[in-house]
Amino acid sequence: MSEPFITGKIESNPVKRKEMILKAMESVKLIPPESFLTKFPHQLSGGQRQRVAIASALILNPRLIIADEPVSMLDMSVRAEILDLMFEIRDRYSLAYIYITHDLALARFIGTKIAVMYLGKIMEMGDARKVLKEYLHPYTRALISVTPRIFGSKREKLILKGEIQSGISIPRGCRFQPRCPKRNEICVLEEPPFIEVEADHFVYCHFPG
Ligand code: SF4
Repeated sequence: MSEPFITGKIESNPVKRKEMILKAMESVKLIPPESFLTKFPHQLSGGQRQRVAIASALILNPRLIIADEPVSMLDMSVRAEILDLMFEIRDRYSLAYIYITHDLALARFIGTKIAVMYLGKIMEMGDARKVLKEYLHPYTRALISVTPRIFGSKREKLILKGEIQSGISIPRGCRFQPRCPKRNEICVLEEPPFIEVEADHFVYCHFPG
């Protein structure tokens, strides 16, 4: 937990560092904080390890935290606890998260804005509810069709052919074209524009909708 002090080049006084570490641990409910100072990672549960990771991020007093699948490895019962803690911290410290996940149902539950990515590029982006309910990109459509009931109604499954290409050999034109059921000649020749189709709803496609 001292690493943020080194990488962020803040606070060199060891006594103050310890105070800040204890305070951060307390804010993520690692209690009593002193009892965790001498523990090794293998002596902590999965949930406690995630709390340590969140506390470490808080030490730098961030306005934004990038959380990459922070609960995917945790037991279901612990997931809810960690998500609750993240929301509580967001409100208490007025910060924001970029939350990276493969779980669209969870994204819908926690996100205010959503960006659907494919091969390192945003395919569709905007207000979370709008994107997940009134999706316009074929990839978003395919993802939603195989996600168990985000909005209650049954949808026909859209199974994409082939696999995601390697990130070092991006296809010509639209990078989704080798797998797209709507592919047209222009998709292979020209990269599509990223257009705002309505307020706060962007899509990267020659034929959205
Ligand atoms: S640009 Fe063409 S290939 Fe790409 S997503 Fe749109 S329809 Fe599919």
